[in-house]
Amino acid sequence: MRLLIIGSVALDSIKTPFGKADKALGGSATYFSLAATRFASPAIVAVVGDDFKVSDEKILKAAKIDVSGLQKARGKTFTWGGEYSFDLNSRLTLFTHLNVFENFKPQLSPAHKKSRYVFLGNIHPSLQIEVLQQIEKPKFVGLDTMNYWIEKTPKELATVLKLVDVLIINDSEARQLSKEHNLVKATKKIFLMIKKNSTIVIKRGEHGLLLFGHGSSMFHLPGYPLEDAADPTGAGDSFAGGFFGYLAKTDDVSWPNLKKACVYGSVMASFCVEAMGTKRLEKISDGEIKQRIKDFKNLTHFDTY
Ligand code: AMP
Repeated sequence: MRLLIIGSVALDSIKTPFGKADKALGGSATYFSLAATRFASPAIVAVVGDDFKVSDEKILKAAKIDVSGLQKARGKTFTWGGEYSFDLNSRLTLFTHLNVFENFKPQLSPAHKKSRYVFLGNIHPSLQIEVLQQIEKPKFVGLDTMNYWIEKTPKELATVLKLVDVLIINDSEARQLSKEHNLVKATKKIFLMIKKNSTIVIKRGEHGLLLFGHGSSMFHLPGYPLEDAADPTGAGDSFAGGFFGYLAKTDDVSWPNLKKACVYGSVMASFCVEAMGTKRLEKISDGEIKQRIKDFKNLTHFDTY
C-alpha cells in the first residue's frame, strides 16, 4: 500500500550528555521514512535548500525512500537545535529556523495523490492540510505535532485534528493541548478535539506508550530497556514510521493490528536512540529487527495461571 509522509527534512544540531552533532541529517520526514522503509515503500513530501548535501540525499535514496517529492528551493534548509538533560528525558529547543519551509507550497504528483496511508509529520498544520486535501482517497491518516505548533498555530491545528484517524503525540504535548495533567483525563479531552472513532497514541519516551481506542480500549507498552542510549532525537518519528510502515504493509487497521503496529514502532524507536542522529537507523539488519520484536514479546508476556 502506498505510504506518504509530509514533514521536515532538516539539518539538526544536537547536544546530549553522550555526544554532539552539527548540521546532521534529521527532520520528522527523514526519521519517519528511514523507519517505515523496513516494512513498506514510503514517499517523502518536503523541501530542502541549496545547502542540502548530496551525501544526505544519498542516505535517503540508499534506504529505498521515494524522494521524488523532495523539492529543492533557493535558500537554507530547515534547521533545528536541541539539547538534552542527563537522563535524556527532557530537551530544550535551542532554535527552530523554518527557512525554505516558510514559502513551501507542496504539489503532489499523480502517483502520490493515490496514497492510501498518509502521515502528516510534524510541520506547519496548514501544510499538513494542504497535502491531505490533495490525496484522492486516503484510507488511514496520522498526525504528529509539537509544542511549537500548539503555541504558534492553535487554529490551524484544531482544523487538522478533525481530519485524522490517529493522533501520535508525546505526553507533554498531550498535557499542553488538553491543559490537563492526568494523561487519561487529557486523552478524554483530546478525543473531543479529533475526528470521531479515531485513535490516540501517547508516547512517553523511555517509559513507553499508551494507545487509546474507541470506547475505553487501552493498551500499554513499555519502552525497550536499552543499555546504550545516546540520542533520543527522532525517536517519536521513528516510532510513527515503524507504526505506519507496519500498517501499510499489512493493510489492516483493526484494534489488534494497531497494537502490533505499536510494537513495530517501539522497536524502530529503540534502535533510533542507540546512536546520534540517523546513524543507527541507517544500518539495522532485518535479523536485529526480528530479534527485538521477540525480545519485546518476552518482555511483556506472562501466563495468568
Ligand atoms: P522527535 O525527536 O521525534 O520529536 O523529532 C525530532 C525532529 O523533529 C528533529 O530532527 C527536528 O529537525 C524536527 N523538528 C523539530 N522541531 C520541528 C518543527 N517545529 N517542525 C518540524 N520539524 C521539527
